Amino acid sequence: MSIDSSLIKRIKGFLDEEEGRRLYEIALTASIKGPCLEIGGYCGKSTVYIGAACKENRQILFSVDHHRGSEEHQPGQEYFDARVFDPKANRVDTFPAFRKTLELAQLEDTVIPIVCSSELAARCWTTPLSLIFIDGGHSYKAAYTDYSAWAGHVMPEGYLLIHDIFEDPAKGGQAPYRIYKLALDSGLFRPHPKTKTLGVLQRNPCPASPSNP
Ligand code: SAH
Ligand code: MG
Repeated sequence: MSIDSSLIKRIKGFLDEEEGRRLYEIALTASIKGPCLEIGGYCGKSTVYIGAACKENRQILFSVDHHRGSEEHQPGQEYFDARVFDPKANRVDTFPAFRKTLELAQLEDTVIPIVCSSELAARCWTTPLSLIFIDGGHSYKAAYTDYSAWAGHVMPEGYLLIHDIFEDPAKGGQAPYRIYKLALDSGLFRPHPKTKTLGVLQRNPCPASPSNP
């Protein structure tokens, strides 16, 4: 795997190494067929794993993030990090760190950052995607918006990956798990084994049309 593990260790983020390797492996298969998209790049850790796979296939990764942080990244909250707080703007801003990561990982010709909310980016989206990784806001409203606005863009046999799945409510928030179950209940996706908290779903093939069984 062409990923610099010492670089990965230096990138701030919320992704376990085993989960990252699984992201890379799935993206390597998926991106043969089309571009990938992630929701929630933060400082670029997941971006490097998925982006490295896309680069190998001369494919593109769209990374959607407003770079203003989720609820838990705001001042006074559990995952606030003063190093990604812009005191002049008085707001979280992870975009400078994200750009630095792209430069260090040599992914500037592979990753297209889309700096806005996932909802806005979805509004005019029409490109079929071989992989979507949902790792944005963890309120139910945010997770549900990510799922409902994007899941339909996964191409047949493409992947829908959802981070932070905790089946036991004592271990973590339930929003990602709830959208994982919605995706399963939709009948559009079939499950693959999870890696830690990374849920892996694959879109079913198009049903055969009556004229072309
Ligand atoms: N995948 C990252 C971690 C993402 S943290 C890693 O590997 O480390 C969640 C990110 O989602 C934050 O950067 C936050 O700014 C972004 N986010 C939260 N809600 C969002 C929304 N509605 N639209 C776009 N980005 C959002
Ligand atoms: Mg996460």
